[in-house]
Amino acid sequence: MLWIGIESSCDESAIAVVENIGGKNVIMDSRCITQAPLHKPFGGIVPEFAVREHSKNLPILLKDMISSGSLNLEKLQAIAVTEGPGLMASLLVGNSFARGLALGLGIPVFGINHLEGHLFSPFIEREQKLRFPFLGLIVSGGHTLLARVDGPRDYHKIGSTIDDAAGEAFDKVARLLGLSYPGGPEIEKYAQLGNPHAHTFPLSLMEKNNFNFSFSGLKTAVKIFLEKNKAMLYQNQQFLFDICASFQETVAKIIEQKTIAAAQSFSLPLISASGGVLANKRIRELLEKKAFEKGIEVLFAEKKFCTDNAAMIAFVGALFYALGLPITKSFDVNPNFSLFDFKTETMINRF
Ligand code: ATP
Ligand code: MG
Ligand code: FE
Repeated sequence: MLWIGIESSCDESAIAVVENIGGKNVIMDSRCITQAPLHKPFGGIVPEFAVREHSKNLPILLKDMISSGSLNLEKLQAIAVTEGPGLMASLLVGNSFARGLALGLGIPVFGINHLEGHLFSPFIEREQKLRFPFLGLIVSGGHTLLARVDGPRDYHKIGSTIDDAAGEAFDKVARLLGLSYPGGPEIEKYAQLGNPHAHTFPLSLMEKNNFNFSFSGLKTAVKIFLEKNKAMLYQNQQFLFDICASFQETVAKIIEQKTIAAAQSFSLPLISASGGVLANKRIRELLEKKAFEKGIEVLFAEKKFCTDNAAMIAFVGALFYALGLPITKSFDVNPNFSLFDFKTETMINRF
């Protein structure tokens, strides 16, 4: 069965082609156009620009896939589209595009939760590793959460951030340091040149059996430290590198400690780790090392599938369909769509 996935929840327009070949869901093509440089000067996403860019870029991506031979519309059988969470305006563009295409081709559209895309992204092209229950860790620009995954659309919250997401903390600290958006890759680049033990920043909510996260105190600690040592930032490059390394190390420790504690506490021998922040080499390394020591298997999404992409959306559609998830009909986008909102375990055909 041939699927495409469409993702437009934030500032990435993305389409991917997934084909179920002999029971395995294979990514045939995955393309993305990011709007990050366009929004950069505004320090956040400007919805009007995002809408215009998605409207322009989704047809470009589709045409490119057709002309390069990776997509044959005559053979396309289903569309998976991100239904939320995300920016209402951005979601509507992807959904209208998906519905228009589906109407023209007479095929169904399935609405996918963006976070379940992240949650299952470590299993892309590693489906043989998929087994329930597992511990899902998502660390992205808008979310930091731990969930027990008992099956498709059967998710139970273990913990989440009570304030900023980890990616948001990377972006805010980068801004304080005069680095550009998105801050994660910038901080990682400079951290490689710094000493992770140069400064001690606070770990938060570390008491036993607290699986929630908090990153706003960490950001404030960096802010206060910088206010006291402002001149150093401009005089000494090593000072910048050391802050980046120390901040990154603190985030890595928080994520590692919470995740391993949750896996042990809920007896979950498999962790799926995904989201933009888990593209970070040091964070992956520390979590992997501790998990190995405890005999827990951790699967990270491939780096290219950590940040927003459509392969994960198409993959979830194809996977759930193949697993025989029942299908219902509905028709909506949901900017606040929570992972824990599924009332019945169904695939939603929105055509
Ligand atoms: P959500 O999925 O929660 O709706 P989002 O889709 O915007 O949010 P992602 O695309 O998964 O989030 O991740 C983007 C975030 O990841 C940004 O905050 C960015 O700074 C961070 N990030 C990207 N690469 C790295 C890296 N190498 N190290 C740390 N953080 C990173
Ligand atoms: Mg993004
Ligand atoms: Fe995302």
